[in-house]
Amino acid sequence: MVSTGLGLVQKPISSLSTQWAYIADTYSPETIEFVGTFSTHFVAYWLVSLVFTITDLIPAAQKYKLQSLSKQPSGKVLIKCFFGALGNQILTSTLHFLQLFVLRRLLHIRAVYRIESYLPSVPEILASTFFCALGREIVFYYGHRLLHHRLIFRYFHKQHHQFTTPVALASEYCHPVEHIMSNILPIIIPPTLLRVHIVTFWLFITGAIMQASIAHSGYDLGSIFGWKPEIHDYHHSMFNVNYGLLGLMDSLHGTRYTGKQKQS
Ligand SMILES: [Zn+2]
Ligand SMILES: [Zn+2]
Repeated sequence: MVSTGLGLVQKPISSLSTQWAYIADTYSPETIEFVGTFSTHFVAYWLVSLVFTITDLIPAAQKYKLQSLSKQPSGKVLIKCFFGALGNQILTSTLHFLQLFVLRRLLHIRAVYRIESYLPSVPEILASTFFCALGREIVFYYGHRLLHHRLIFRYFHKQHHQFTTPVALASEYCHPVEHIMSNILPIIIPPTLLRVHIVTFWLFITGAIMQASIAHSGYDLGSIFGWKPEIHDYHHSMFNVNYGLLGLMDSLHGTRYTGKQKQS
């Protein structure tokens, strides 16, 4: 019975390892990086956005919204948001494609993520994800504060702040410069510096993109492992608080607002 139990647990993992080894040995590092990154980004963003957009149509769910119903965006605004986010994804995927298949080959640059024929271990995934999340918080915070500088706010970040009452779709609705600065660089700089396994990178960006969509959902979801999605909602309604994602950098710089204290 014990061996049957172990077999049931081990079989899917070993078959996953075999499938991954086949992919790593069959396709070029560029093809693996492009297809995997595009797929994980696309699925993570659109799946969470779709779930929350459908939830927005359910009357019973509206009592969990953080801001009043009269402030929710209209259908016309949501359609604009849909095409804005799609346009940003097409732009950055095209840049990624050119970087991999043109620039990297021309300049003979090695792959930035590790593509090996074995999968990363669970402890490695957890450690890498922890440091990547920390790095993302730092890069995002300073980039976001820069976008709020009074001399440049109107050129880039103003578009994203059209949503004073955010919805999940709005997490990638922004100026293309902001999309690169706030949505792309914070999730690629830390994994690149740490040279993580490509599978760890995909798991990290899946979590990061889902977190961004949940943070924009506009729902009171309580605490998720100590993190409250409502903190980014406060940023959209108040502008000058919660520039970070986790609250760490805001606590350090005195810009954290949790709704419990008066804004200073
Ligand atoms: Zn936002
Ligand atoms: Zn902002």
